[in-house]
Amino acid sequence: MSFRNFLRQSGAAISICLFVVACGKEPAPEPEFQPLQVVEPRPEIYADFTLTSDLSELSENQKKMIGLLIDAAQIMDDLYWRQTYGDDYESWLESIADADTRRFAELNYGPWDRLDGDKPFMQGVGAKPPGANFYPKDMSKEEFEQAYLPGKKGLYSFIRRNSEGALTVVPYSVAFADELKAAADLLRAAAKLAESTDFASYLKLRAAALISDEYQVSDMFWMDVRDNDIDVVIGPIETYEDALFGYRASYEAYVLVKDLEWSNRLSRFADFLPALQEGLPVADEYKWETPGADSDLNAYDVVYYAGASNAGGKTIAINLPNDEAVQLSRGTRRLQLKNAMRAKFDKIVEPIADVLIDESQRKHITFDAFFANTMFHEVAHGLGIKNTIDGRGTVQDMLLEVSSSVEEGKADILGLYMITELHKAGELGDVDLRDYYVTFMTSVFRSIRFGASSAHGKANMVRFNFFLDSGAFVRDAESGRYHVDFQQMETAMTNLSRLLLTLQGDGDYAGVVKLTESRGIIEPELQGDLDRLTDANIPVDITFQQGVAELGIN
Ligand SMILES: [Zn+2]
Repeated sequence: MSFRNFLRQSGAAISICLFVVACGKEPAPEPEFQPLQVVEPRPEIYADFTLTSDLSELSENQKKMIGLLIDAAQIMDDLYWRQTYGDDYESWLESIADADTRRFAELNYGPWDRLDGDKPFMQGVGAKPPGANFYPKDMSKEEFEQAYLPGKKGLYSFIRRNSEGALTVVPYSVAFADELKAAADLLRAAAKLAESTDFASYLKLRAAALISDEYQVSDMFWMDVRDNDIDVVIGPIETYEDALFGYRASYEAYVLVKDLEWSNRLSRFADFLPALQEGLPVADEYKWETPGADSDLNAYDVVYYAGASNAGGKTIAINLPNDEAVQLSRGTRRLQLKNAMRAKFDKIVEPIADVLIDESQRKHITFDAFFANTMFHEVAHGLGIKNTIDGRGTVQDMLLEVSSSVEEGKADILGLYMITELHKAGELGDVDLRDYYVTFMTSVFRSIRFGASSAHGKANMVRFNFFLDSGAFVRDAESGRYHVDFQQMETAMTNLSRLLLTLQGDGDYAGVVKLTESRGIIEPELQGDLDRLTDANIPVDITFQQGVAELGIN
């Protein structure tokens, strides 16, 4: 599962907790009669954050180009509204008298709360159609499945009814011909201002893709564009919004400014992977493989989110393209969105620390450590073992549906191992290792707030309980606050690394399930601590003030 998908799932899991808490006092409704619950609009769960970046090194042309890319992104926003809600969304928004309700409708791109299981927050709107506006509202799954309709499973089309009422396929390039032509013209105008000729070529290919619904060539070419300071992800990309079948892609855009300093540091750290692989705290047969450093990892500031990427919970890392043919031949790019991470750190991680972390260690919670932990998590995916040691097959094939949670858990713990080793080697400069450990612990609270219902939630719980049992995380009974025992931390880290690498190398499905069932649980004491976060009204996610005015360009 992509990191992004994981973040979305985590977001969905929060709602389950809130639901249980909110409904705990009331008797459950009869199963045969379940009126649709209408919830309150709650715009306050999204903390405001202004998207900016240091543009001082950019030329006037590049700044102008950013403006054009934002204009194109705004077209994607319009198209996404029409995919998810309908063509009449603007007049509908204007008709909402209550300011909070209208704001919440804008944040959710419709009247359903995306971080509370899509429950309606307005009377009379009913349940969210699982097919959003991709399909006719009166179409059943059976009707779709039985229809003879070439291309009906396409990524880039609507299903509509013709004048006789029969189902028909309408390509996006036809339904949105005028808007897509306008967006393509903006990308071509931006290409004229680009300083990287490769990036200019990419923009022209992407313009052609928008008006033809043929994206593969531009996706393939994008993998080769390396020397650009500005980047843009634009088009119909993810299919989560089509909850009916998962076939149809939603329009979205990210306008990005590359963080050259961090990107260079990341590529330098990748060079250490072979030595780090050799030093893994596990028997030789579990670390004989050559670590992979093939994925392209860079840091960016996002200056504009539009469409699907701006709806509900916000992603802080992108892994693209999705096209499997491109992935097989070229791999993927991992884009780390630094200022969006900053937003989550300032608005969520720090407030959590204020409630749950011991005063004496509060100073060790830093953005640099938060960012580095996230980055090294990505690099650490390259360490360890991809095939079982007895030659039965890949770890993924042996561990099936629990494989991604073990892999994510491994990346988290080996990321910390990498930091520890690089720090010992003097590669991280003048930083305090304790910052990484305390910030790591605080981030675990942020993650387990999403509940233990998802596979990733369980992996986070296993990690938390492992550190607690090992005495590396310590809870003070009187204050209810936590601190890291630095003596125990390294031992716990080594033991957990060894455990996860061994489970992977053995392809030990039963072992993973046993670990998850015994330790992937939220104990009552911790639940009480998490409830304190809810009581403190700590935001659940973020929303952005964004645009050329925020960037100081025109
Ligand atoms: Zn990961």
